[in-house]
Amino acid sequence: MSGSLDSSLDRYVQAGMIAVKLRPLAEKLVKSGASVAEICESIEEETRRLGGKPAFPVNVCVGSVAAHFTAPPEGGHVISDGDLVKVDFGAMVDGFIVDTAVSVNLSPMDSGIVRAAGDCLEAGIASARAGVEVAKVGAAIQRTAESAGFKVISNLTGHEISRHNLHAGGVVPNVERGYRGKVQAGKVYAIEPFLTYSYGAGFVVESSPSVIFRLARSRPRDPAQAALHSKIAGSFGTLPFAERWLKLSGEEKEAFKRLVDAGCVSKYPQLVEKNGAAVAQAEHTVAVLPEKTIVLTR
Ligand code: MN
Ligand code: MN
Repeated sequence: MSGSLDSSLDRYVQAGMIAVKLRPLAEKLVKSGASVAEICESIEEETRRLGGKPAFPVNVCVGSVAAHFTAPPEGGHVISDGDLVKVDFGAMVDGFIVDTAVSVNLSPMDSGIVRAAGDCLEAGIASARAGVEVAKVGAAIQRTAESAGFKVISNLTGHEISRHNLHAGGVVPNVERGYRGKVQAGKVYAIEPFLTYSYGAGFVVESSPSVIFRLARSRPRDPAQAALHSKIAGSFGTLPFAERWLKLSGEEKEAFKRLVDAGCVSKYPQLVEKNGAAVAQAEHTVAVLPEKTIVLTR
């Protein structure tokens, strides 16, 4: 696929239509007392019911956790009053992926951060035309955040998406400086500003434990590990997956741990705001055509 979406646009649109239906469900599921497992599983199940596959585990990130958290196999995480919650999910049809996120603020005081994240996303989308420098998109997002009194998370970016590949190389920054390249016609991008408060550091750092993984290239020699490696390859290819999706037996849990330690499975560490400030996120996937940019997930 070089420079044209002719043959794949219909399936991107199909995946987008699934995500459009999932967004209000995600917003409705976020309430005080809801378990993270319940939110993840409901959205993943609905994705399948609507004819798609989850492109990655539904991420439910609370407060200062910005990205890469999903229900761990043992469960136990519950949403509380006051939480700022991001629900980030992907729908895939025939390998064509869309990626979108909603934020819900359960704080009794509305700080406006969720609305501001949405405004940043709209500003980013409006500027993401074919041939525009990606730095211009970042500048539009950053300017919108700062004029509302918030900071962008500078080291999280939007990304190009290609078939079976959630992070396909191209980057859509949320800041003006530090990124080169142009928005290209015939490509699909997720645009995803993350905002925090003025007392935040404005960047995320890695934290533990990791609950989202992907297969790495190296194959294990040990038969138990090799069997698990093949099972993962067959089910998810190199797309992100949750440990809970594997439904591991006790023995397999050990093999899985060794696959991770050996680097045959890579982790996506949780990403947390450096100063512990709460983070809001907004995300849509767009298809860039020569003459216009289409938002697939709204
Ligand atoms: Mn996402
Ligand atoms: Mn994304």
